[in-house]
Amino acid sequence: MSISQSLQKLKDSLKASDRMPVVFLGHGSPMNAIEDNAYSRSWAELGRNLPRPQAILVVSAHWMTRGSTLVNVSRAPKTIHDFYGFPPELFAQQYPAPGAPEVAAEVVSLLASHHAEGDETWGLDHGAWSVLKFLYPEADVPVFQLSIDMRADLPHHVEIGRALAELRHRGVLILGSGNVVHNLRAVRWGGGPAHDWAEEFDTLFADRLAEGDIAALSNRPKLGKLLQMAHPSLDHYLPALTVAGASDDKDRLLFMNDAIDLGSVSMRSFIYY
Ligand code: ZN
Repeated sequence: MSISQSLQKLKDSLKASDRMPVVFLGHGSPMNAIEDNAYSRSWAELGRNLPRPQAILVVSAHWMTRGSTLVNVSRAPKTIHDFYGFPPELFAQQYPAPGAPEVAAEVVSLLASHHAEGDETWGLDHGAWSVLKFLYPEADVPVFQLSIDMRADLPHHVEIGRALAELRHRGVLILGSGNVVHNLRAVRWGGGPAHDWAEEFDTLFADRLAEGDIAALSNRPKLGKLLQMAHPSLDHYLPALTVAGASDDKDRLLFMNDAIDLGSVSMRSFIYY
């Protein structure tokens, strides 16, 4: 089935339901934010096919905290250019969407037992705006970010998703942004084939997800060395676990962009609907 057909199916199936889908997008290189390529086009197409949310909660790989989960409660979240050595055009990007302080404050309550706190220092990092600018180019849907607690173990991030799942019934789009495989030390900048371990982890991830075996994906000892190769640092993996945690057995699962970029960055994205 092509992406268009799958998305049409997604659109048709949502008419009868108010329940929002949950989305994980592999964002890859910041350059995707200013390029017209297969990834940026797929994000735009997805945006045209998703039901319009009342607010968007983004769990981005690029907001890391230690020992707490922060929820940005800004009224006007600033666009953060959290990268170096890219062209001026990328630094000139702005995504002036309003924040959603009331919803964000509710999320702090919802996650009270997970050391959640409100925050006014963050805004939207490139994990968020590089995909949002294609999903919602008008920047007219309120957006707020949730940090990832790098001290917490993998099951904690699945639990966060479970706790957030009820937002799906209230018009909130939960959007995770990271990469299913992300090893920058092994990147083949000139292009080239995917590393074997990158293919292996990407396939394992997709298979377990399709089986609904989220526990296997958050079992660090069992994932072992393969996880370490795919993610020398776990930041780009954790948002995928939170998105998986927000799914339930009524959901259908759709994959998109199942390709490995630069040898070691999986662009695999998935949608529960
Ligand atoms: Zn990233």
